[in-house]
Amino acid sequence: MKILVVNCGSSSLKYQLIDMADESVIAKGLCERIGIEGSKLTHQPAGKDKYVVEKPMPDHTVAIKMVMEALQDAEHGVIANTDEISAIGHRVLHGGKIYSESIVVDDDVKRVIRECFDLGPLHNPANLMGIEACEAAMPGKPNVAVWDTGFGMAMPEKAYMYAIPHEYYEKYSIRRYGFHGTSHMFVSGEAIKFGGLDPENAKVIVCHLGNGASVSASIGGKCVDTSMGLTPLEGLIMGTRSGDIDPAVVQFICNKEGKDVNEVLNILNKKSGVLGMSGGVSSDFRDIEAAKREGNHLAEVALDAFIYRVAKYIGAYTAAMNGVDAIAFTAGVGENDKASRKAICSYLGYLGVEIDDEANDVRGKNAVISSADSKVKVMLIPTNEELAIARETKRLTE
Ligand code: ADP
Repeated sequence: MKILVVNCGSSSLKYQLIDMADESVIAKGLCERIGIEGSKLTHQPAGKDKYVVEKPMPDHTVAIKMVMEALQDAEHGVIANTDEISAIGHRVLHGGKIYSESIVVDDDVKRVIRECFDLGPLHNPANLMGIEACEAAMPGKPNVAVWDTGFGMAMPEKAYMYAIPHEYYEKYSIRRYGFHGTSHMFVSGEAIKFGGLDPENAKVIVCHLGNGASVSASIGGKCVDTSMGLTPLEGLIMGTRSGDIDPAVVQFICNKEGKDVNEVLNILNKKSGVLGMSGGVSSDFRDIEAAKREGNHLAEVALDAFIYRVAKYIGAYTAAMNGVDAIAFTAGVGENDKASRKAICSYLGYLGVEIDDEANDVRGKNAVISSADSKVKVMLIPTNEELAIARETKRLTE
């Protein structure tokens, strides 16, 4: 069974064709600059050379057509025809209050994706375009929606309700949703398996630390809290997002700088985080670390603050669950940066967390990085959202 996984952004489309027999990636690729001049498809068949096509892609429908052509190309292709593809799995950002479980797409699912445009203004329209493009390119094949907000829907009310007038929840569904759900679901599940933990009761904290960053707490794989909120702006300090701040800061900047709320929110989303804190050094954690090594004080503060906030969330979530069995690091920083992992864990001595430096000297593969004596198992678990989406798609369409 071969499954195509599609992840559409507003001007991009990432794909992977996965053979579910051994969960191997047969081909993957990226369409960039959809709807913008200079569109480009980069197709990478496993074990063969990269294949680049530069051709206008006015919309996602054309992009999907080009992906299908690349997959079937005589020289660079990996399938004879689209009959070999059993189903298509889509990453969909927001299912609102309606959908938590992955689901085979029908008209009602498309209506909900559309109704949630307000909640995911950049992603949901692109996700819907991707689904409709696949329906047009492969009529009759099942498309499955896997919600980025799905994992967070298991949270109890006390965790997802904001302390604002209740009417806003009733009228506009304003609540904590959480994002990176597919990653948190995958990593918490893998951590339970890899760490040999009790699948029903294990208390796991997942730190997804990439350009976007979030923490989740789950018991037996069910989310009890997560750091992102109504939007991905809440929670940790990220590459360019502020994470938690006093909302009055928005009003203050508006008044002082003569900006409106949308402009300030744009600053909090795109010009803040370690980029903003460091005085503009970079949103990339490698650059921030390099600047710190060169003695840049603001870069040092940005990095310290990032690490400190992750540690605070781990403390809060340990309290929320009345304990923690395992902490798993994932995503760009979590998978590659042993110094950040060590620095975060240095706050957790009171929990009996002990890192083994030799074991922590590892990148990009499942590993236990805590010592044998550590009271909490600390792990590195590389995330694989595409595989998680493919597994969900297989489960629902087999
Ligand atoms: P996203 O998917 O949110 O764009 P990723 O999970 O790919 O983000 O993570 C990207 C981040 O990971 C970048 O800020 C990058 O600097 C960081 N990163 C990658 N490798 C390292 C490393 N060796 N040390 C520190 N940070 C790293």
